[in-house]
Amino acid sequence: MSGKPDDAEVRRSVKPVIVYGSDALQTPDIAAYRIARTAAEKIGERIVAPRDGGAFRVAAGQFFRISCMEGTQVGDLNLWSANNLSEHFYSGKTRALHGTHLDTGDRLWSCLPYLRPMATIVHDTLDWYGFDMFGGGVHDVIGTRCDPYTQHLLSGNEYHHCCHSNLARALANETGLPVQQAELHVHDVLNVFMCTGFTRDTGQYFMKASPARRGDYIEFLAEIDLLGALSACPGGDCSSTHSSDEATCHPLLVEVFASAGESPENWSPPLPNGYSRGHGIQENAASSATSTMSPKDLSRSSE
Ligand SMILES: [Zn+2]
Repeated sequence: MSGKPDDAEVRRSVKPVIVYGSDALQTPDIAAYRIARTAAEKIGERIVAPRDGGAFRVAAGQFFRISCMEGTQVGDLNLWSANNLSEHFYSGKTRALHGTHLDTGDRLWSCLPYLRPMATIVHDTLDWYGFDMFGGGVHDVIGTRCDPYTQHLLSGNEYHHCCHSNLARALANETGLPVQQAELHVHDVLNVFMCTGFTRDTGQYFMKASPARRGDYIEFLAEIDLLGALSACPGGDCSSTHSSDEATCHPLLVEVFASAGESPENWSPPLPNGYSRGHGIQENAASSATSTMSPKDLSRSSE
């Protein structure tokens, strides 16, 4: 609607700058993680039924694997600090730090004020996929999760077995919280195995059939003690629809592995972010040193 200025093309041709260059982040020693993984043995598993959710716990230094155990199936993953539900996975900042789709070596970061790695991807059988000709990639942190509120907004229907509700039920069952309280802790997900992108011409969010096949998996090191929940999305391979019973759906398998002996060499669980949380208030306050509560104190007080 607005008139194009004379220098429109000059303005458009300004080169982009990567906001958070990969040099700025300390890279995890994936080789050391993999050596520790080789020595780890399976200690538990959880099968997440189609169109349902399931919770699992992984201690810091242990590994967890999510697999398409029977056929192509997209999963929506939530993570919380096992001792503090207010520290949860932060998909937006993870996207800003690592890009729209995650791969081996990328980390799942926790929300403010904690902002520390919760998990690190150590193996992904789909890392060959990269980005396709449509701009689609696998394991995105751009979608949110299918939820009954958007469904109701758009269609007026009630669909209870969408990912938001599956995650809420899983967390409620695991913690004993009433489901309406549990859902307040459900957050934007890592879309495991989902293939998504944005259309180049209109910038619209798209999904397409997941390239995952039976046996494909993604594996993580838990950087801190984790409570996780996974939903086997009612969209199945997400090739056409979700939030209905139309798509073919499969279960997902979550397995936990622990080493009897060593954790990865030179590894220790990361501390919460070191920012003082002064937010500039203390610049004018006399008692600045005593009133600051760091995220470290916060997580300690909630344990
Ligand atoms: Zn879903």
